[in-house]
Amino acid sequence: MPIVLYNTLSRKKETFLPLKENQVSMYHCGPTVYDRPHIGNYRAFLFPDLLRRFFEYKGYQVKQVMNLTDVDDKIIQRTHEENTTLQELTQRYIQAFFEELKLLNVQPAHHYPKATEHIPQMVRLVETLKKKGLAYESNGSVYFSIKNFPHYGRLSHLDLRTTSEVSRISQDEYSKESPQDFALWKAWTPKDKNIFWQTSLGKGRPGWHLECSAMSMEYLGESFDIHTGGIDLIFPHHENEIAQSEGASGKPFVKYWLHNEHFLLNGQKISKSLGNVLTLPELLEQGYNGAVIRYALICQHYRKRFNLDTTKSMQAAHSALEKLVYFRQDLESIQKKGEPHSEILQILHQSKDKFNQALEDDLNLPVALAALFELIKRLPLPQINQQEAKAILEFLTQADQVLGVIDFHIQHLYSTVDKKRIESLIHQRTEARRQKDFDTADRIREQLLNLGVLVQDLPNGTKWRIKGGKT
Ligand SMILES: [Zn+2]
Repeated sequence: MPIVLYNTLSRKKETFLPLKENQVSMYHCGPTVYDRPHIGNYRAFLFPDLLRRFFEYKGYQVKQVMNLTDVDDKIIQRTHEENTTLQELTQRYIQAFFEELKLLNVQPAHHYPKATEHIPQMVRLVETLKKKGLAYESNGSVYFSIKNFPHYGRLSHLDLRTTSEVSRISQDEYSKESPQDFALWKAWTPKDKNIFWQTSLGKGRPGWHLECSAMSMEYLGESFDIHTGGIDLIFPHHENEIAQSEGASGKPFVKYWLHNEHFLLNGQKISKSLGNVLTLPELLEQGYNGAVIRYALICQHYRKRFNLDTTKSMQAAHSALEKLVYFRQDLESIQKKGEPHSEILQILHQSKDKFNQALEDDLNLPVALAALFELIKRLPLPQINQQEAKAILEFLTQADQVLGVIDFHIQHLYSTVDKKRIESLIHQRTEARRQKDFDTADRIREQLLNLGVLVQDLPNGTKWRIKGGKT
């Protein structure tokens, strides 16, 4: 089965054919580092991680780049408000961002270029656009001339003919309705204070849209496979990236544009004015670990508007993940020998196929997860022998290569317990039971429960596992 992805450019699902055989080059719009991202932002950062893991699972060699916007209108304002330096402010939040990615088991991208470290590349790009008649100077700033770029509006499906007059805008973010000549290079103004670069374009700083064009092409070349971002970046940000890059290179910039849908928290858009901003550390404080939060954020389809209910969704994510973990632990404890059952292997193959087909169909996570839970439901656990268990476990490990939650959750659970102490208590309890000292056995069971350990007595011995609780 080929991989099919929904391309915003064509508004259709398309078969994925990489520019270079077996290789995937991807660029993702990263955070603007003047604050901690909120939990909704992580949807846009987990989606690229899933894509990367999926392509690697399929045997592709992936090159992944995520930019760090470390200069823009908001950052400059915050720097002055806090009376600090651009570097101090952005470094603080870059570090926090990396720590949080780790807490969500996100595999690090191959490059995290910072805008401030790529000013010469941006200046070169603007110089090229000027030479080609696509950029012009006005009051020390340089703007992109959208009327000279006939393809403008292709991604966002804006019809320029309906716009009688094109105005000019210097802000990084602007109205979603009106196409405007946007700033490539912004002339220094007194409110920028000491934040500026002296270049051939004059004294000033780059515009936000320019950063992504210059840095993606620096690391991935003039044409690459996939560009992702939240749906709110389609216009103007991604539209402007296409104009800058294709305007300068004359080549197609990105083959597949993938956008994740909006995120709602308890039914509302996250915004400072609503006072409902929730950060990852705050959610961790509520007792959910990174694996549970990761699961909650990835289990919906990326193109579906997603409402995270801080109680219901988190609990559902926790119990689903626990089910997967227990399933793995059950399989690991199987020691039964015996003839293979063709029926069990058939169930396994069917689930594998369903799992793969779901992911190949525009990364349909909910359907892929359903295939795993169906497997758990259909398998007759008591009949499974060791060899079959091994085959099922292998599949589970492969699936987790994409999901990144099962092993991560187990690591977290067991990192907080003293395994030696538990094994010793289990041993003492087994001894007490053997001597028919049931009072002591019960007392130890109680003690174990207080440690979050569930004990199960089976014909072939005593099994234990961590009862996750919330964490
Ligand atoms: Zn971007």
